Amino acid sequence: MTEPKPRVSFEFFPPKTDVGVKRLRETIQALSVLQPSFVSVTFGAGGSTREGSYHIASEIVRTTQLDVTPHVSCIGWSVGELRDMLICYREAGIRSVVALRGDPPENEPNARRAFAHANELVAFIRELGGFRISVACYPEFHPEAATPEDDLNNFVRKVRAGADEAITQYFYSNDSYYRFVERVRRMGVTSPIVPGLMPMTDYEQVARFSKFCGADIPRFIRLQMEQYVGDKAAQQELGIELASRQAEDLLRNGAPGLHMYTLNRAEPTLRVFENLGLARVPLAEARSSASLS
Ligand SMILES: Cc1cc2nc3c(=O)[nH]c(=O)nc-3n(C[C@H](O)[C@H](O)[C@H](O)COP(=O)(O)OP(=O)(O)OC[C@H]3O[C@@H](n4cnc5c(N)ncnc54)[C@H](O)[C@@H]3O)c2cc1C
Repeated sequence: MTEPKPRVSFEFFPPKTDVGVKRLRETIQALSVLQPSFVSVTFGAGGSTREGSYHIASEIVRTTQLDVTPHVSCIGWSVGELRDMLICYREAGIRSVVALRGDPPENEPNARRAFAHANELVAFIRELGGFRISVACYPEFHPEAATPEDDLNNFVRKVRAGADEAITQYFYSNDSYYRFVERVRRMGVTSPIVPGLMPMTDYEQVARFSKFCGADIPRFIRLQMEQYVGDKAAQQELGIELASRQAEDLLRNGAPGLHMYTLNRAEPTLRVFENLGLARVPLAEARSSASLS
């Protein structure tokens, strides 16, 4: 008997250029071979890529067999506009969304927002009906949270508002995920909490981004990566090895699946899945169909 495959999902962002769109199409084709449960498409703050998100999500529905889960945030529009977008998604055959508060763009801190917090958006979507709802959670706590306890309580609020599952912010210390899961289980949350993984293929970029989103880069990773400053190929090799070990440990310890932040690139995810023995079909074909750099 074959072992059940863990549930995997891949996250993409809407590219801003034609070259980026071409590359994303190749990435989607390559990663389809891994048979994800769904692929998700991010939603830019301030409406900058709102249309981009819709176009990419509906193209994936039209041109592939994949289930698509668009992200929807509260920022940059009214409740009415948000409702219209959800109805468009429903009519396009989309049956799940990731519901987020989102972040206002740096130059527009007072951007319009349909709701103040994600729990209100979750309740709104639940009321509208027709969608499975995922929400974000933060094993190392959201940077704006006054205290870790507040953040846990606010997460539980989203679940009680009707979220079906949660996807975590990326993290590099599995202990923070295990502790988070243990604490919210004690608070009565039973829904799946899927770890989000971002293979560290560009250390400088991840280090910059991590300062904003509150993800910690542990010392043992920092010190190893700092040996390879300016050497992206060496960083990628190490990043893939670390992500493979991290994913293996998570699955061995009961994580319900993996959500991969792909940054629209196929190769790091393909390599991690090969290392885990989760690629049950030859990946040579997947590679030849994509520009894998
Ligand atoms: C899996 C995942 C996908 C993401 N995708 C996107 C994307 O596509 N587009 C994008 O712009 N961003 C995205 N983000 C980033 C996210 O939008 C930011 O982290 C944002 O700052 C918080 O969004 P949230 O939905 O977690 O907000 P909330 O759950 O609303 O939490 C935000 C902050 O407010 C606090 N809080 C929550 N509810 C309440 C309440 N009722 N009263 C008082 N305080 C409260 C929380 O503790 C937290 O500090 C994603 C994050 C993750 C983990």
